This record gives sequence, structure tokens and C-alpha cells, in this order.
Amino acid sequence: MYRIVIGLENKMAVVRNTKAQEAVLELLQRSKKTLTADDIINTIDVSVNKTTIYRMLDRFVAAGKVHFVTDTAGKAHYALCTSSCLQSHSLHNHLHFQCKICNQVECLPVKLEVPELENYEVHDMQFLSVGICFKCKQV
Ligand SMILES: [Zn+2]
Ligand SMILES: [Zn+2]
Ligand SMILES: [Zn+2]
Repeated sequence: MYRIVIGLENKMAVVRNTKAQEAVLELLQRSKKTLTADDIINTIDVSVNKTTIYRMLDRFVAAGKVHFVTDTAGKAHYALCTSSCLQSHSLHNHLHFQCKICNQVECLPVKLEVPELENYEVHDMQFLSVGICFKCKQV
């Protein structure tokens, strides 16, 4: 009996995780801005804890579905990968913009050149510009 209950609970957890995964991808698809793990937790209506969300996002990043940029406070902001990504998804050489007023981070369709560094192996590169976004500038 105990075992059956555990089995059922696991199954329910799997279903919940699949639902959560779909919800997270859908949310990232719909969002014009990048999203933090907190944004995601506060928006999707499937209840999942932070560890699960981070694990999920890590998997999406490894699979080349999602990339992230770290803001000036060290917080990761996630965005869906697009066809403009390098095929390997190892380097995301487009510009990101962090607004000092609304604190939102967005991907900008501006490509930056990745320099060849002799004797160095580059695994990751983040391009973040900081300032005031067009929306906050209008106010
Ligand atoms: Zn990518
Ligand atoms: Zn702003
Ligand atoms: Zn981006």
C-alpha cells in the first residue's frame, strides 16, 4: 500500500513537472522581456519550487532552447533561443539591455563580434548594456 502511494506520488510529480515545463516554455515564448526564476514562479499557475525551476532552466540551456544573461545584481535572466542563435548555442553574441529604472532586461537584435583569442578557450560570453529603456524614457 505504502509503495503504491509513493508510486502514485511520483507519477503525479512527473505530470506536474511536464506541465510546468510546458508552462515555462510557453511563458518564455510569449514574453518580450527576459524572465528571472522568480518572474516565472510568480507567473505560471503550476506550483513548483525554485530548485525545480532552476533545474528545468539549466536543462533548457543545455538543450539550446534557452539562454541567459546575468544582470548587474548577479541575477540570471532567461530568454528563449531564436534561429539567430549560433548553432552550438555556446555563445550568444547579441546585445542585452538592462534598464536602471524598471530593472527589466531584454534581448536586442544587435549582433556583436566575438573576438578570436589566441591561447584562450572561450566558453561563454555575455553582452549587457545598462541604461534607461525606451519605455521609461517616455515617462
Ligand atoms: Zn541559443
Ligand atoms: Zn525601463
Ligand atoms: Zn538574449
